[in-house]
Amino acid sequence: AIPLVVAVSTSIAAKTGLLIRDRQAFERARNLQAIIFDKTGTLTEGRFGVTDVVSLSGEKIGSGDGDNGMSSDRILSLAASLEASSEHPIAAGILESAREKGLQTQSVEEFSSIPGKGVHGLVGGKKFLVVSPGYLEENGISLKNEKIEEIETQGKTVVFLLQEDRVLGAVALADIIRKESREAISKLKSMGIKCLMLTGDNRYVAAWVSQELELDDYFAEVLPHEKAEKVKEVQAEYITGMVGDGVNDAPALAQADVGIAIGAGTDVAIETADIVLVKNDPRDVVYIIKLSRKTYSKMY
Ligand code: ADP
Ligand code: MG
Repeated sequence: AIPLVVAVSTSIAAKTGLLIRDRQAFERARNLQAIIFDKTGTLTEGRFGVTDVVSLSGEKIGSGDGDNGMSSDRILSLAASLEASSEHPIAAGILESAREKGLQTQSVEEFSSIPGKGVHGLVGGKKFLVVSPGYLEENGISLKNEKIEEIETQGKTVVFLLQEDRVLGAVALADIIRKESREAISKLKSMGIKCLMLTGDNRYVAAWVSQELELDDYFAEVLPHEKAEKVKEVQAEYITGMVGDGVNDAPALAQADVGIAIGAGTDVAIETADIVLVKNDPRDVVYIIKLSRKTYSKMY
């Protein structure tokens, strides 16, 4: 049988917008020592807007950025064509921007996504890709461009449009930090809980968000399959909670001592989580820990 106090707490939680799916995890919440937050869609809203489109006219063959480059509208429309089948928040931002500009998109064949790195497909029989800076690095495509470096240090997310291994252009996007994130982090820290961030995004964006929210530490450019591994590393030292929203976060949510999903997240994340934040408010993480402490201190 479920002790009455726990049943009462569970129903209080539900009224507040917290769905407790695993009662034992709810009990463990009172002992949490560290919480790892996913960045995109968790600490931030996950709604990207395009801020810059840069023509790079095939850096790989060393032509530099001259006036023979592809127009920014063409870059954006090709990127939007490729992103049309992706569910990533970056894709939504690129599609929205192309639509606002009234740009046409083309049909894509053999679409495929590269988890945590980007997408590719054929347009007019030719292979195009939209990928992360990390993908360029791994494939030995070096890019020295002042404009891109400047944009990256502004804390924006940059993705590159490639045709085969030639970089045609870059699209920069900016996301918004959830207004509730700051309060959530500062409260957790005052309760003696370490606040960390895990993201597949580039190190500049991660550093910027981490500084804004005064996080204790962060891990950037983490591939989807590495996220659970990072949680395990933190668990070696602390009883660890994980808060996430994406498909990529599911294994990390399962690995954590307490897995918490943002309600607006993907079905996979929600189904894997022990607790769901129905209101998408990171401050509810503070609430759940306090409620867990109160509930179980009455029992023991
Ligand atoms: P996060 O951990 O922030 O949720 P992901 O692991 O989903 O990030 O993605 C990491 C990085 O991979 C993105 O910042 C981006 O550079 C790249 N990426 C992933 N999906 C796409 C996509 N559909 N289009 C372009 N880039 C993508
Ligand atoms: Mg996310």
